[in-house]
Amino acid sequence: MSGSTDQTDPTNPTNRQLGERYTHSLMNTFGPPKLALVRGEGAHVWDADGKEYVDLLGGIAVNTLGHAHPALVAAVTEQMSTLGHISNFFTSGPQVELAETLLRLVGAGPGKVFLANSGTEANEAAFKLTRRTGRTQVVVAEGGFHGRTMGALALTSKAAYREPFEPLPGHVTFVPYGDADALREAVSDQTAAILLEPIQGEAGVVPAPDGYLHAARALADESGALLWLDEVQTGMGRTGEWFAHAGQVVPDVLTLAKGLGGGYPIGAVIGLGRAADLLEPGNHGTTFGGSPVACAAALAVIRTVESEGLLEHARAAGERLREGLGADPRVTEVRGRGLLIGLDLVSETAAAVVDAAQEAGWIVNMPTPDRIRLAPPLVLTDADVEAFLQAWPAILDKAGT
Ligand SMILES: *Cc1c(COP(=O)(O)O)cnc(C)c1O
Repeated sequence: MSGSTDQTDPTNPTNRQLGERYTHSLMNTFGPPKLALVRGEGAHVWDADGKEYVDLLGGIAVNTLGHAHPALVAAVTEQMSTLGHISNFFTSGPQVELAETLLRLVGAGPGKVFLANSGTEANEAAFKLTRRTGRTQVVVAEGGFHGRTMGALALTSKAAYREPFEPLPGHVTFVPYGDADALREAVSDQTAAILLEPIQGEAGVVPAPDGYLHAARALADESGALLWLDEVQTGMGRTGEWFAHAGQVVPDVLTLAKGLGGGYPIGAVIGLGRAADLLEPGNHGTTFGGSPVACAAALAVIRTVESEGLLEHARAAGERLREGLGADPRVTEVRGRGLLIGLDLVSETAAAVVDAAQEAGWIVNMPTPDRIRLAPPLVLTDADVEAFLQAWPAILDKAGT
C-alpha cells in the first residue's frame, strides 16, 4: 500500500498504517490489501489517505446500489431497531416477503426458497439438496467457481484451490464449459445435477455459447437430473435482467448471493418444481440465514432496482462501456452483459492495468493475467462511464499494455 502522509493521529490511521497492522493481525488469505477504505457514496469510495476512487468492481458484483444508498441504510436501520435476529424456530414478515418476491422475479411457477448467508453457503445447501434425489454425481464445468467451503470447493474446477484440501466430497465430473457433446457424454441416469454458471464470472466473464443452456436443460430432462444454475454473481440485475438465464431456460435449482443484499450478507437457494421439496426437516439448517435484517436489506435492493429503473440502466451503461473500452486496439475481446464486463488484453498486463487504474482513481479487477473484469454498482452514473472511457487509453499506456 502507498501512504502519502504518515500522520500519527491514532483515530485517523493512513493506508500504510492500516496495511501494516493488517499484516500483523489478519490471516494472509488474500495477500496484502490494495487500500484501506473509509467511506463510500454511490459508486465512489474514499481511502484512508483521503483519495477518491470510482468503484468499478462494486465489492465483486455485490454493491448493487453502490455505497450507503439511503433506501438500504434505512431498511437495515429500521429492521435492526425493530427486530434484528430471531433464529429459524420463528419466521418474520421480511423473510416470507423476500421468498415470495424472489419466486415472483424468477417467474417460473411454484417453488420454495432456502435462505443462507453467502454464495458458498447457498451452494452447500443446493449440493445437499441434489443428494436427496438419491443420486450422487454432479456434472460441473471447467473454469467454474462455486465457493470455498469443502462442498462448494469440490464443485470448483481450479486445481490450485482444490488440491491442498483433498479429499473433498466425491462424484464430481468436470467437463469443458460450453461443449454440449462433452456434457452429453458425462450425464447419465446416475447424475443428480448439472451445475453451470450462465456466465462464468471468476473465469473472466465467459458467457455460455448460444444453445448450451438449452442443451443442458434437455439432458437434465432426459436423464432425470436437476439443472442447477449458479447465479451468485450474475443474478439480481447484474446483467441487466434479474437473472442471466432469463428467456433461455428454466432451472430446477438457482443459487444467488452477491448482489442480493447489496452489501448485507445473504444467499438464497431457489428450488423449482420437484426441487422445491427435496430438503426436509432435519436435512439442513443455519442460525443466521434468513434473518429479518438480511431479508429487509434484500427487499430494499429489489424495490430500489425496480423503482430506479436500474435493469434498463445496467443494460445501457454496460453497452456504452463495452463499446467504448473495446474500441481500443489493445483490447482484443469484450464479453459480458449489462454491468458484468470482461475485457481481454493483447498482453499479460492486467495486474499493471489494475495498478495504473487505481493510481488514476478507478478500481478495476483482474480475474486472470490478461483479463480485466468490471462489475460496478448498477447506480454508476453516465458521467462516471464517460470519464472512465476518457481515462482508459492512458491507463493502458501507463500499464504498458
Ligand atoms: C462469488 C461466487 C461464489 C461464492 O460466493 P461467496 O459469497 O464468496 O461464498 C459462488 N459462485 C459464484 C458463481 C460466485 O461468483
